[in-house]
Amino acid sequence: MGKGYDTNLLNRDMEKCLRSPFVKGEVIGVSLLKKPLHLLTIGNGPFLVHWNGGFHGNEWVTSRILMEIVLELLELLDKNEAWNGNSLKDLFKQVRLQVVPMVNPDGVDLVIHGEDKAASYQELVKQLNYPNRTYSSWKANIRGIDLNKQFPSGWEIERNRKPAYPTFRDFPGYGPLTEPESKAMAQLIIKEPADRLLCFHSQGEVIYYGYSNKQPKVSEDVVKKFQRVSGYEPVRTFDSHAGLKDWFIDRYQKEGYTVEVGRGVNPLPLSQYDKNLEKVKRLAFQSLIRG
Ligand SMILES: [Zn+2]
Repeated sequence: MGKGYDTNLLNRDMEKCLRSPFVKGEVIGVSLLKKPLHLLTIGNGPFLVHWNGGFHGNEWVTSRILMEIVLELLELLDKNEAWNGNSLKDLFKQVRLQVVPMVNPDGVDLVIHGEDKAASYQELVKQLNYPNRTYSSWKANIRGIDLNKQFPSGWEIERNRKPAYPTFRDFPGYGPLTEPESKAMAQLIIKEPADRLLCFHSQGEVIYYGYSNKQPKVSEDVVKKFQRVSGYEPVRTFDSHAGLKDWFIDRYQKEGYTVEVGRGVNPLPLSQYDKNLEKVKRLAFQSLIRG
């Protein structure tokens, strides 16, 4: 599996970012183990774009990719350079970018370091992980709730067909938005809903862009642009509910996308990291271009 992108590496990159005058850092909440949920904001334009990653413990590669893209954006801004002919200084007069790079820091550290770092949850995670021998299949937060099945759109559908008790993946919780991590995300969005929301998961190289036919018409054009630059396949609907992008589309009828990075078994092998980074970077930059 190689070295994973844990909260130490995230904090190191966060410090690097915050040395830039072009970014603002905030903490929107804390996880069950009291780790900060970081938010970075770049630019001050009227069009609000939101990226998040690290929703699922064994998908930490998405956090690493987002941070690497953010660092590159900041460097380009610093040097006043363009991206594909687009002046980033001009672009960020039109756009404001919000990034929550790691929604589930406890789950990420558990996958990478095992239960030793799970503090008071050590015995619980050992039980919930049964019969797995490692934590590489763990997606949930530290008490066994799947954060991307916590949102109140079709939540009951997932409750009725997914595990009924906490476990390493897919348990939607005993109610919607019971967890500090999912609650912090919902509050951030309710406070000011983005115009375009991208949730980065792994894996599959597809982009989900619909929910109950409530997505705006423009999503279909935008997702084709994402496909053109990344090669990722657009998929309108999928039999899945209670995810952040599902709720976002349902509630606001705005553009919401779930981007499934890479292909293979999670955590994705680092041997394909550079290839995944390139594709996601093109897609992420494209998402900053309005229309
Ligand atoms: Zn995921």
